[in-house]
Amino acid sequence: MHSFHSTVSRRDFMKTLGLAGAGIGAAAAVSPVFHDLDEVTASPTAGWKRAWFVKEVDEPTLEIDWNQIHRMDRRGQPGRDVMAGRSDGYYSYYLEIEEFVKREFPDWKGTTLRDRALNEAWYSTWMGTQTVRTPAPTPDQLSGNTSIGPMPKWQGTPEENLRTIRAAFRSFGVSSVTVAPVDEKTRKLFYSYVGKQKVTFEDIDLFESTTDRFAIPNNCQWVIHWTNLQDTELTSRMPSHVGRAGFPMAYTHVKRIDLLIEQFLRGLGYQSINAGNYCPSAAFGIMTGVGEHTRMGTTLNSPEYGSHLRGQYRVVTDLPLAVTKPIDAGMERFCETCGVCGTQCPFGAIAMGDKSWDNACGQDWAADQSVGGDTCMWNIPGYNGWRLDYRKCMGNCCSCMGACPFGTAGASLIHEVVKGTMSVTPVFNSFFRSMSETFNYGHKEPESWWDLPLEQIPAYGVNPALLVK
Ligand code: SF4
Ligand code: SF4
Repeated sequence: MHSFHSTVSRRDFMKTLGLAGAGIGAAAAVSPVFHDLDEVTASPTAGWKRAWFVKEVDEPTLEIDWNQIHRMDRRGQPGRDVMAGRSDGYYSYYLEIEEFVKREFPDWKGTTLRDRALNEAWYSTWMGTQTVRTPAPTPDQLSGNTSIGPMPKWQGTPEENLRTIRAAFRSFGVSSVTVAPVDEKTRKLFYSYVGKQKVTFEDIDLFESTTDRFAIPNNCQWVIHWTNLQDTELTSRMPSHVGRAGFPMAYTHVKRIDLLIEQFLRGLGYQSINAGNYCPSAAFGIMTGVGEHTRMGTTLNSPEYGSHLRGQYRVVTDLPLAVTKPIDAGMERFCETCGVCGTQCPFGAIAMGDKSWDNACGQDWAADQSVGGDTCMWNIPGYNGWRLDYRKCMGNCCSCMGACPFGTAGASLIHEVVKGTMSVTPVFNSFFRSMSETFNYGHKEPESWWDLPLEQIPAYGVNPALLVK
């Protein structure tokens, strides 16, 4: 139990409940004895704080006769359609459900293609996170299980479509969805080759991927940039082993999200080209306004999620979408006077100097053909900023992300005030940097994770307080 117990007395608390004083009768007999508010919420059950009215008892509230209970033999269990007596298939009940819903909501127009696409996307990976069980039906493959049968692809305005994919992707575990056009500028951000595959933009109807070609159709004019989060508490304990659990945890979700997005867009009738390995994440994150460039180089800082954007992926599609713009929240300027990530990198991979146009950035191997020369360059040329030294970076120790003052994004009111101030002036930035140390933003002692209140260990590794941003 933490040290700052409240000073509300039992009497004050009981008064508030209207249970204090004489003559409260039966209430007095069942009311617990509290010494302070922490005890009100505390339970003796290994760190699980439950409400005071949840009492542990010796027997369940359900009446049970253990003399009558025996093990069930379920070898003869029929399928659900047989049990339900539905010769036309178990899921024919959907039609009845729609009628049921309409009785309660007479203005409801019935199932839409996007409703169906969302449901089918989840079904496609149901009970498995790494593979598609059954591909979601495209609109022309829809059967008559609902009021919509085979139909044309989903039609919406670009703004409606952006709203639709934001809602759907959130349900998949995505934190942000932004969009760039595929145009003269952003085509330059795609790699020219990846391994033996040449990346091309062609006048073809459908995406093609072969051993030597990754061909994006010219009708796919939008790049969706989506992100997922790395757990805040684990990240702040990087680079320890316990902290690094947040890294594979986040990427495990990435794989499933990839599949869900692919199946959802398929269900709407559109192409979904997973281009995560064919263009850089930070470049599209900056262009679409998820966040700003940082001293860390390949990691963005986001006003909402700080440095904890783990997965950043790109999906090229022909679904028309409203595009989003880059942002200025003063975060890149903050990096100019901060440099904490550089001092906390165990391997000296982060540049401590000023921003630069020099793309080699001290990486003299970059032009050395014996190690691949510019065919294995990690940094796109042409920007005035910082580059990570990939010869030194161990890739996923993540001490830099854990140390960044923005790592605790959303966790503190004062942090919001700081962010608002630095968005309009850099004058206080060096003061804020010191303050972040004073307020203990940044690294935390690894072992302390095991003693966190359970409500601070979020299910699936994603802090819901951050997801609502
Ligand atoms: S991941 Fe680790 S090695 Fe790489 S830049 Fe960050 S702190 Fe340095
Ligand atoms: S630690 Fe400081 S310099 Fe590094 S990315 Fe974060 S704000 Fe920028």
